[in-house]
Amino acid sequence: MKDKDIYSVKMRASRNVDGVDKHISGAEKIVDKDDIAACVGALVSRGLNHEKGNADFLNIKLEHVKEEIMYLDALPVTTIDVETWQDGHKEILKFLNEMNLRNASKILEFIDETYSMRGAMLLDVNILERLEEDQSRGIRATYMDAARDNNEVLSVEKNHYMEAIVLATKVSYCPGMVGEICISDDPGYVTGYVASKECGYRRITKMKESGSENGGRIFLFDSTKASISEAIDYLQNKKVLVRNVKPLNFKEKKDPMQVLKSVTDSMKENNLYRTMKTLETKEGVHIKIDGKEYVLMASNSYLDITAHPKMIQKCKEVLDKYGVGSGGSRLTTGNMDLHEELERKIAKFKNTENAILFNTGYVANLATISAIMKNGGVIYSDELNHASIIDGCRLSKAKIVVYKHNDMEDLKNKIEANPSDFSMAVSDAVFSMDGDILNLPEFVRICKDHGVLSMIDEAHATGVIGKTGHGIVEHFNNTVSPDIIMGTLSKAVGGEGGFVAGNNILIDYLRNTARGFIFSTSLPLVTVASDIAGLEIIESEPVLVERLHENVKYFCDYMSDNGYAINSETAIIPIIIGDEKKAMEASEILMENGFFVSAIRYPTVAKKRARLRIAIMSSHTKEELKRAADILLGILVSA
Ligand code: PMP
Repeated sequence: MKDKDIYSVKMRASRNVDGVDKHISGAEKIVDKDDIAACVGALVSRGLNHEKGNADFLNIKLEHVKEEIMYLDALPVTTIDVETWQDGHKEILKFLNEMNLRNASKILEFIDETYSMRGAMLLDVNILERLEEDQSRGIRATYMDAARDNNEVLSVEKNHYMEAIVLATKVSYCPGMVGEICISDDPGYVTGYVASKECGYRRITKMKESGSENGGRIFLFDSTKASISEAIDYLQNKKVLVRNVKPLNFKEKKDPMQVLKSVTDSMKENNLYRTMKTLETKEGVHIKIDGKEYVLMASNSYLDITAHPKMIQKCKEVLDKYGVGSGGSRLTTGNMDLHEELERKIAKFKNTENAILFNTGYVANLATISAIMKNGGVIYSDELNHASIIDGCRLSKAKIVVYKHNDMEDLKNKIEANPSDFSMAVSDAVFSMDGDILNLPEFVRICKDHGVLSMIDEAHATGVIGKTGHGIVEHFNNTVSPDIIMGTLSKAVGGEGGFVAGNNILIDYLRNTARGFIFSTSLPLVTVASDIAGLEIIESEPVLVERLHENVKYFCDYMSDNGYAINSETAIIPIIIGDEKKAMEASEILMENGFFVSAIRYPTVAKKRARLRIAIMSSHTKEELKRAADILLGILVSA
């Protein structure tokens, strides 16, 4: 508002009932000159069409405001929900007692006297005497409105709540005023309030019976603090604009950064906060953190070939020839011969017609599932599937039906209970946090019988299971083949990237629809080189996979022989601890003893299913595995 051309607009509407003038509506605004026409029009309409009846008389009074305007901040609001008006009156008493008014219950008795009055009662709280000159009319607080920002649209719709805040705020700043009690005389509005500068504005949700016209207000005045004439002059003449008047359902905007911080704070309280350890070495069986050496038993680099000489050699050659970045997506300028060579290698490795490369395994799952199921249908998903599968399902338009972990009977039942003419079942091949293997023959058979597409995630299977590390199909003696084989090159293969292998129809479809493939720059060539080299190393050095299998067996047998029965056919061995804090402590003890083993907590696994996730590498020595097992057994015995 511009402070110079400001006007006070008042509207009073009354109705002639049996020859007597009866007040039905009144309102006032403080507005810019430019807003007068709109304001007057709206107030006239409001006065003429009132629920108490149509007005017979309506006055509009317009005054130019020349004196200085007092700006006040709206009283803070609290709501007190009550069931009955009697409870509402108890809340008034509570308020009066809080104000240290000796005559609390007597003050409340005065409310009956206000019902017939147009204005408010001005009551001296010390001597309980009324101070208004005209006691049938009472005192009227006028000349107030909500302050508006420059671009805020003028609103003249009746809003009991916001008008009441404006009035209560003006009254609470009156010299000598200790508080106010208000019950609306509107028959349809039973909420009232008590207010004071100290207590703020307390909405009390029931102050009278619905339908009753009994309403009124008492201004509680302390004549030892200010003169009556000063108070009356303030109430009747001071021009007040109240800032920050918020609608009832207004929610204070929180600082977005504080909202984020509250999430991480709560994680800290619940032992779910995560920090990163910084490795000063390559990812290999022996690492260094803060200058101290550890045996790594937490890595997905199961064959420990990230820095294999052949891998480094291949990357160097490719770096010299191609540089690093690919500069475009596969469908634009970023499709090099090397990307295609890798896809051919993957297809061969997985014994499928074709394959498609993604930048990570995570993206492979997201892009593939969401592309295939983009028009709806049903996805049947194992309850322990990896987050990237879950996110892919969420990104699709399909109904998601979760079946019990590796429970093929439940999968079949869920398919039959939730039939669809287009559906897919998806499962980890090796479960990333439990280390168990999908019952692939049953999975594929059930899917085929029911016309359901079968998809598996071989992130922890590729390079790990199967006699020569070719994955779950080899593990089951090449007797079955799922429709969609997804995997990553970032774990046993030692590079980076995700893939999907399958028939030509599938790969052709994904190249044309998978958004994570289409809209992302393709993998850098050095990475592609590392993936090619990784697959070649697995093929040419079968001893790596053999040693991995031996190590897993050795570790499990040693633990079992010494009192803790475990068994795993994969590189992942979970030791379930349960409590998050205890799992963290166990991991710390292992660290103190020179072994890096991760504690896995919610949300990676369910709450109270925290665990140590032992990950075996082909490069661990028997001695290292034995030492780790001994420390672990010590922890488990004392836990
Ligand atoms: N699927 C599973 C089962 C995984 O464990 C992971 C990685 N933790 C991924 C997919 C994602 O692969 P990437 O790390 O290559 O993004």
